[in-house]
Amino acid sequence: MLDLVLRGCRLPDREVPVDLAIADGRIVAIGPVSGPARETIDVAGRLVTPGLVDAHIHLDKALLADRVSGSAGTAAEAIRLTSLAKRGFTVDDITQRARRVLDLAVPAGTTAMRAHVEVDPIVGLAGMEAMLALKREYAPAIDIQLCAFAQEGILQVPGTEALLRRALGMGADLVGGCPYNDTDALRHIEIVFALAGEFGVDADFHVDFFDEPEHLHVRAIVRQTVRAGWQGRVAVGHLTELAALPPTEQAALITELAAAGIGVISLPLTDLYLMGRRDERNVRRGLTPIRQLLEAGIPVALASNNIRNPFTPVGTADPAHLTFVGAVAAHMGTPELMRDLVAAVTTHPARILNLRDYGCAPGCRADLVVWECERVEEIVMALPPRRLVVKAGRVTVEHERRTVERWRPGGSTQTHRG
Ligand SMILES: [Zn+2]
Repeated sequence: MLDLVLRGCRLPDREVPVDLAIADGRIVAIGPVSGPARETIDVAGRLVTPGLVDAHIHLDKALLADRVSGSAGTAAEAIRLTSLAKRGFTVDDITQRARRVLDLAVPAGTTAMRAHVEVDPIVGLAGMEAMLALKREYAPAIDIQLCAFAQEGILQVPGTEALLRRALGMGADLVGGCPYNDTDALRHIEIVFALAGEFGVDADFHVDFFDEPEHLHVRAIVRQTVRAGWQGRVAVGHLTELAALPPTEQAALITELAAAGIGVISLPLTDLYLMGRRDERNVRRGLTPIRQLLEAGIPVALASNNIRNPFTPVGTADPAHLTFVGAVAAHMGTPELMRDLVAAVTTHPARILNLRDYGCAPGCRADLVVWECERVEEIVMALPPRRLVVKAGRVTVEHERRTVERWRPGGSTQTHRG
């Protein structure tokens, strides 16, 4: 007995719609499917992709617009304003704000995400406590990786390293550093790698988040990755300084990143908002060079980062919106490049997060999105509504929408599912 059959699915790499048969949380067959199923849904030729993956999000400091006055003009200012707000965070407060974001992400079709959870003497382990409970609560709808994250630095805030160790002991999935916000960036990177080694977990860095290539701490991350044998287990977010390197130097560093198996996570809403603030004319975009990284075979994700706080005043937790912004901000307008942008919220982040059995092939976990469109590039062009979201073989979200066009003679009511 099959659990679910989706009929008439238009898969990204196939012209003709096919049926997907799902059992025990996995896709078991693709093609004409017969046989009994607990539930059969005809999706009528709509596009079906694997679930969206948001590789970098801060649920614990999301939705602060109503309590932080003034908007930040630099990353340092955003850190300072958020750090002040953080003094008032409680487990309950973090839980409520994080839940509101998760309740945007799940209906959008996000079936996996990596959340950075701040761990420092200001907030202690309150973020971890809140997020571990939410991770369990939301497990039927979304896999949440928790990254114990040293936003305030490690060396400049004594006690942080011990708290990171405790966070990893209580269930953090990986460890995250922020070398640009510490007194000794190289030592900071070494400590993060030492913790990753000690607990056998992946590492993720906020790095080189400036307009000019004045830090390039990523070079130390490359060295440490190779030294530790952590290829395929390290990701870097922002990496905006890479865009400012002269082409030859940029190409050389990209080759090193590729050889070290490091994934890159572009955070376009934050980077477009905070970079280029000192430019008086021809204000730069301040994004990491997405196309050059992709051309080198590096997995590149587009991720939400912050949702409505001093770092980023906007945010919907819908990865499709990032592809829409990415197309114009990173000059990726051809159908091929638009498909690359969709890969940046699906297959690439799945690789960076080391998700097992991700995709639309037999044997893959049945984490799927059914879209109100037919072609992959339409996701980028038109931000189509989602029709269904499937997690581990179960329909988790079904969208319906009703439009009444009262201006038309006689009125016209349409019920759109999706
Ligand atoms: Zn971040």
